Amino acid sequence: MPDYNILIADGLDERGQSILRSSATVDDKSGISADDLLKAMPDYDVLIVRGRTKVTASVMDAATRLKVIGRAGVGVDNIDLEAAKKHNITVVNAPMSTSLAVAELTFGLLLALAREIPRADASMKQGQWLKKELEGVELSGRTLGLIGFGRIGMEVGRRASAFGMNVVAYDPLISEEDIKQRGAEPVSIQDLFAWSDFISLHLPLNIQTRDFIGPLAFSQMKDGVRIVCAARGGIIDESALLDALNHRKVAGAALDVFGQEPPGLTETVSHPRLIATPHIGAQTAEAQSRAAEDIANEVLSALRGESLRWKVA
Ligand code: NAD
Repeated sequence: MPDYNILIADGLDERGQSILRSSATVDDKSGISADDLLKAMPDYDVLIVRGRTKVTASVMDAATRLKVIGRAGVGVDNIDLEAAKKHNITVVNAPMSTSLAVAELTFGLLLALAREIPRADASMKQGQWLKKELEGVELSGRTLGLIGFGRIGMEVGRRASAFGMNVVAYDPLISEEDIKQRGAEPVSIQDLFAWSDFISLHLPLNIQTRDFIGPLAFSQMKDGVRIVCAARGGIIDESALLDALNHRKVAGAALDVFGQEPPGLTETVSHPRLIATPHIGAQTAEAQSRAAEDIANEVLSALRGESLRWKVA
């Protein structure tokens, strides 16, 4: 294989870097600014990113020898796929690597909402004993509505079933039969809103799903619903969520992702019934190691012209 140059823009676990170094020259420029990326692009055959770097049409215009873009993770909403197609650049991701990590965080957030664990801990650290105020709810016997029932949604559903929850799912791209086989009851979005005590979002961000959960959706939900989003910022309209929290339509919400990241100390983030985490869904040692290994192997396969498991564009 010719000596290819690979640029890592957002960090990559050592396991992946060593696989790449066996066949190519690797420059780890993690944290590179948008301006420096534009200047560097003409020297590289491969660009590997996570979610931070925006791979825009201008980046690809500047990248005269770029052949492959690798996303060490799932979401490719930070990559302009149309521009990649136009430039004949192959885009690959590592969609299997982070599902369990995100599903486990989602479950942690469901439990944290049900029992107000962050508030309990914060109050203890202020020397308080809020035993009476901190009466939560049980997951068992409640209905969990999953919007998006792909890899992560399905893993969340399996865990919810083990906790004794009734799991319903809305996913217009999966057949009712497949949803049943994956362990959930297929429902319309209206029924999901009307029946769910907890709602968790696991769909991609795109033109159809931006602001998917807005004022109309909130008005169709049960009073006192609890909502988790560890999918993508922009799927929930954050100002509508704030309104729903303030009017107690929503009893509690947990967000791992935000329309703008980092969001700063917005009214939504600082709301007492909102639990916020800094986009840590995929941040486990295991997930990062798997993502790095998967993307390194996939990028090398792309350079060798071999068949690809996870070609996005
Ligand atoms: P996936 O492709 O396996 O599943 C997504 C599902 O959403 C698919 O089954 C698809 O049919 C469904 N879907 C698409 N449009 C829909 C719509 N309008 N309504 C309902 N369902 C719809 O993806 P995944 O690996 O399960 O990832 C799910 C989400 O989690 C993505 O948004 C991804 O970006 C996000 N994610 C977040 C983190 C994090 O760090 N928090 C990490 C990894 C993935």
